[in-house]
Amino acid sequence: MIKKIDHLAIVVKDLEKEIRKYRDILGLTFLGTEVVQEQKVRVALFDIGGVHIELVEPLDPDSPVSNFLEKRGEGIHHIAYEVDDLEGQVEVLKKNHIRLLNPETGKGTSGSKIVFAHPGDLSGVLMELVEKKK
Ligand code: ZN
Repeated sequence: MIKKIDHLAIVVKDLEKEIRKYRDILGLTFLGTEVVQEQKVRVALFDIGGVHIELVEPLDPDSPVSNFLEKRGEGIHHIAYEVDDLEGQVEVLKKNHIRLLNPETGKGTSGSKIVFAHPGDLSGVLMELVEKKK
């Protein structure tokens, strides 16, 4: 079962520049930056009422996010929902013919387990499911 929105991810070209805007102009609580090797990105995390805004900058031309930036420019990349039982949710998606981007679950920020579902099967929005590290 989906519990809540965990984060919204926004792709940016220049992370430092955007951190200044979100922290200093918008006044969101800045939680820090983290490199997610598996996705070849660096992210900046902000908190707003328990939901995170995640600014994502690609670190490598191979990163799936580089592709997005080239094709679509900066903007909202995905919505992430928190779940208790990622494996169980993956089964539900598979049973209902919602395609996953990767057959296996991967690693997200702060040791979480994640999976992405295909935007073509979900209203054009890339969805991430996150199970927090326990
Ligand atoms: Zn995410």
